[in-house]
Amino acid sequence: MATGKINVSVENIFPLIKKFLYSDHEIFLRELISNATDATLKLKHLSAIGESKIAYGDPQIEIKIDKEGKKIHILDQGIGMTEEEVKKYINELAFSGAEEFLNKYDDTAKDAGIIGHFGLGFYSAFMVASKVEIITKSYKDEPAAHWSCDGSPKFTLKKGKKEAHGTEIILHIAEDSEEFLAESKISELLKKYNKFMPIPIKFGTKTETLPKPEDAKEEDPAPTQEVDNIINNPNPAWTKQPTDLEDEDYKGFYRELYPMQFEEPLFHIHLNVDYPFNLTGILYFPKLTNDLNVQKDRIQLYQNQVFVTDNVEGIVPEFLTMLRGVIDSPDIPLNVSRSYLQADGAVKKISSYITRKVADKLNSLFKNSREDFEAKWNDIKIVIEYGMLSEEKFFEKADKFALYPTVDGNYYTFEELQEKLKDLHTDKDDKLVVLYASDKEAQHSYIEAAKAKGFEVLLLDSPIISHLMQKLETSKEKLSFARVDADHLDNLIKKEDTQISKLSDEEKEQLKGNLEEVIKDKGYTVQLEAMDSAASPFIITEPEFMRRMKEMQQSGGGGGMFGMGGMPEMYNLIVNTNHELVNEILTTKTSKKRERLINQSLDLARLSKGLLKGEELTAFIKRSYEMVK
Ligand code: ADP
Repeated sequence: MATGKINVSVENIFPLIKKFLYSDHEIFLRELISNATDATLKLKHLSAIGESKIAYGDPQIEIKIDKEGKKIHILDQGIGMTEEEVKKYINELAFSGAEEFLNKYDDTAKDAGIIGHFGLGFYSAFMVASKVEIITKSYKDEPAAHWSCDGSPKFTLKKGKKEAHGTEIILHIAEDSEEFLAESKISELLKKYNKFMPIPIKFGTKTETLPKPEDAKEEDPAPTQEVDNIINNPNPAWTKQPTDLEDEDYKGFYRELYPMQFEEPLFHIHLNVDYPFNLTGILYFPKLTNDLNVQKDRIQLYQNQVFVTDNVEGIVPEFLTMLRGVIDSPDIPLNVSRSYLQADGAVKKISSYITRKVADKLNSLFKNSREDFEAKWNDIKIVIEYGMLSEEKFFEKADKFALYPTVDGNYYTFEELQEKLKDLHTDKDDKLVVLYASDKEAQHSYIEAAKAKGFEVLLLDSPIISHLMQKLETSKEKLSFARVDADHLDNLIKKEDTQISKLSDEEKEQLKGNLEEVIKDKGYTVQLEAMDSAASPFIITEPEFMRRMKEMQQSGGGGGMFGMGGMPEMYNLIVNTNHELVNEILTTKTSKKRERLINQSLDLARLSKGLLKGEELTAFIKRSYEMVK
């Protein structure tokens, strides 16, 4: 038996590049344009420090498609290479980069879908080309060089014909990659990866309409001219200083990023840090709906203005992936798997920096323009509530500006709410009970009843609110939330407001017996309460705890840990002993009439709670018509 080491060597690297990177062939263009950009920026630097005799001017990068010749040309006006440099950088260095890449390359990276973000550099050209030529002339006073390689390890290198400094890469497109000869395909790639690269990129020309000369006749067509079609914006907003930008500029940049998005963003956050890591960017809060999942993956990650990915998982905390915008950082390692990324110290710092910036921005909006903040609350609450649930640090900050709206459109912070409610809303155990509704329409009668007693009712309707309430109840002392139709309500009446029952104990016994006999199969727990005579005679309530568990199960997360399937339905029937109708039930002579009164009242209470449906609802309506006839 022989053992040995498989060596990734010159002989077999090209087929490997093609095979391993199959799904990401398209990145060749980004890699070659990145090289062209680097070469141009190097020349800019050399001119700036006086080391290049060549004037920098207004260099461009140009992409040309030669359909007949099945070639793509990438031309730059950068520093170029001497023959010696081609030998060194292309034959040795670039190649070793490719070999190193394949050695390091592992399947986890491929599974995580990040392979395309790994800079393979120049050799990625062989993913789409059967032959590659480089014609290059250095900014130094040396002749041009012409390198050519057909994908085998052999290459030719000779003197080239090129007068101006810079580099031209010619890709002879392979048969299986001819899709890249389509203008629309190249255009799509340029838009995806190169939209904000720092050097203007020309792709073809376009016709521009000029203003008509003054003496032109009405029917004369406006004159036109052919101009370079520059596909990128080399100076995107995030590379500028916040002080140089107006609100309009930020909105304009949003439209540039999301041309199909017609809604304006609510506000933006400009990120700008250079220590302990480099990061710039602009994040936008869009109007959000309650559907959490469709709104992800809209933040774009760049590295020095080169698009990398729109999956920022691990870099941006989960709850902020619902935002939009751009993050640009050279310090995010991209050649590693996602799990590594999440454990990386630098990346963790970036993530907590972003969290802090977002919290600070929200806080300043709240402080400086509360009215505006309140108006936007409904559109941003889902992010904030989600953040409060998932990031402790964010919870601490957001606790000061998170808002709790009432059904009447007042907005309180938690502190204000506590202050407002402290007298009326405490229960027997001195606990502050916060009443809320989740649906103004469905819980209308309950809201009205609570308001009639002088209670404040909040409107808390996001899908994760039950989780947040649970979190608040555990992190604050003596606090509980109760929905308006929950069974807490009757505990809340101020001591001095307690009504005295008009019924004697014997009468109560009798009433309870009557009620239970009629509704015994319907699963209600009957409770007699002495309430205001104007309140409803029958009210159905549900234990807050049971209902919330059900909701949490539905929205996933917390409730799931109980491992229970369907929670049993549990309802109380509260009967107001001070109501006239209840008195009539008690005093009525015939049991038939009593039964009818009870059933009809129960159905009305169920209707009010939204529990009367289907066949029972139909029967109820029919019966009601009979009665009003
Ligand atoms: P990387 O760009 O990561 O260094 P590449 O394989 O893409 O690796 O390129 C290797 C080297 O070849 C570059 O570092 C650069 O010196 C040189 N090079 C590549 N493309 C160009 C170009 N368009 N103009 C000048 N030099 C280039």
